[in-house]
Amino acid sequence: MKFSKILLVIAALLGASFASAADAPVSQKSKCDLKAEKAGKTCDHACCVASAKEGKNCEKCGGTNVAAAKK
Ligand SMILES: [Zn+2]
Ligand SMILES: [Zn+2]
Repeated sequence: MKFSKILLVIAALLGASFASAADAPVSQKSKCDLKAEKAGKTCDHACCVASAKEGKNCEKCGGTNVAAAKK
């Protein structure tokens, strides 16, 4: 009886770690980009415009870019 409970706990822990692994690699927009987006615009910082042209989030302003998935 106890053994099956332990299995349940292990399964739950594995499920949790799988879930967080799936959530982990996410690109974050910079705060100014999010602000501009809320206003229906794009940020007009030169650095943000340049990043947007490359399809990235501005890292100077706190955005992050997840490297393209390795395959
Ligand atoms: Zn900006
Ligand atoms: Zn910027």
